[in-house]
Amino acid sequence: MKVTVFGTGYVGLVTGTCLADVGHDVLCVDIDQKKVDNLNNGIIPIYEPGLESLVRDAVQNGLLHFTTDPKRAVDHGELQFIAVGTPSGEDGSADLQYVVAVAKTIGELMDGYKVVVNKSTVPVGTAEKVQAAITEQLSARKSSLAFDVVSNPEFLKEGAAVNDFMKPDRIVVGTDSEQAEKRLRELYAPFNRNHDRMVFMDVRSAELTKYAANAMLATKISFINEMANLAERLGADIEQVRNGIGADPRIGYHFIYPGCGYGGSCFPKDVKALINIAKGVDYSANLMEAVDRVNQAQKSRLVDYIHQHFGKDLNGKTFALWGLAFKPNTDDMREAPSRVLMEALWAAGAKVQAFDPVAMEETQHIYGLRDDLKLTGTKEAALEKADALVICTEWKNFRAPDFELLKRTLNAPVIFDGRNLYDPARLEEYGFEYYAVGRGKSV
Ligand code: NAD
Repeated sequence: MKVTVFGTGYVGLVTGTCLADVGHDVLCVDIDQKKVDNLNNGIIPIYEPGLESLVRDAVQNGLLHFTTDPKRAVDHGELQFIAVGTPSGEDGSADLQYVVAVAKTIGELMDGYKVVVNKSTVPVGTAEKVQAAITEQLSARKSSLAFDVVSNPEFLKEGAAVNDFMKPDRIVVGTDSEQAEKRLRELYAPFNRNHDRMVFMDVRSAELTKYAANAMLATKISFINEMANLAERLGADIEQVRNGIGADPRIGYHFIYPGCGYGGSCFPKDVKALINIAKGVDYSANLMEAVDRVNQAQKSRLVDYIHQHFGKDLNGKTFALWGLAFKPNTDDMREAPSRVLMEALWAAGAKVQAFDPVAMEETQHIYGLRDDLKLTGTKEAALEKADALVICTEWKNFRAPDFELLKRTLNAPVIFDGRNLYDPARLEEYGFEYYAVGRGKSV
């Protein structure tokens, strides 16, 4: 099938590439000329495991193209995917300007039936706004071309995006159009060989499903973090508690890791957007407000421990930092807990020596060159002459370090672990002062 994808970010590029990989003829369009030039030269703008080779193969097979030309884009696909950003506005609401801009472009340039598929995460009622924007453009042209607007929220996880797209748990489609349903079934058939993963529903329910999923996941994290904060004050170990509760299949072990808070481009923004959506219908989303509050505070947990250990003034102190990305296997720094940490350390007069396997370029891009930030080539180099090690991301490569080397290299054997990677008893034997989340060192 011929498919156009607007937006070549994490969602758009993965969607376009995976659809091309199974044989669809895909044209990806972006307004960012540099991104498109890079893609046309085989340079992938993001780090996502497995993506680069898939893009290369699909381009070689002639099934994946990139453009900034809106006319070419609208002409190409009967299916027009919208996968552009929906960042938080000032009041926390989802900013729909990019989505509406794409809708207008489609309405302005289409010359035959189109299925407009919205993959961006958008508030309930956005499909109607997209519909209105297209209709307005068509009316201005005195055209009455037929089209359908479908909601098809994306559930991929950064760091495992290709696998998630190729083997989705479910493919949610909101539509009341038989024609659109037929097209979407055909489009996704290659991903349904094992069993039918399609879940059709009405458009509004599909839009809310995405927020409900992210809100649930964010709630799990804030829940366990709240328990961790309690455990700390009560002299309990949250990791033992986690094991104890996870054994109940109604709870499970998944996604209840305590730590220094959730980040990324989705959970913080989507929880805030949901609070805002609720306000719009005179409902107070108390639980979501608490989830957000707990998370904001949790992002400062490591800073609290650091002040507890070193005092308020951190002038002259240097901190080794392992992990910058908001989670492993991505270079995404949006709302990353490491940013809250670094900014607090700088404000208190400290320097940071950081290492991340893939997010250092992005960090440099965000913070530029500054005296109080040194990005190091290895995780060991980050330790040199540092007064303590801080861990913000649970990269696999950080899980079993050489503790003797760590002790020798740091000025003092102190670790602040925002991801609970190590066994406190073992670290005590090694002679470390070890601060982890919810494991006994009460603030
Ligand atoms: P992103 O910021 O990585 O990419 C968005 C891209 O859209 C950018 O390259 C931008 O230049 C482009 N763009 C903006 N306006 C455009 C236009 N008029 N025409 C063509 N391109 C345009 O965003 P993302 O992380 O891929 O997220 C996209 C949407 O998907 C968001 O709504 C997000 O909430 C949702 N989502 C994201 C993830 C994720 O893990 N990142 C997962 C599921 C859903």
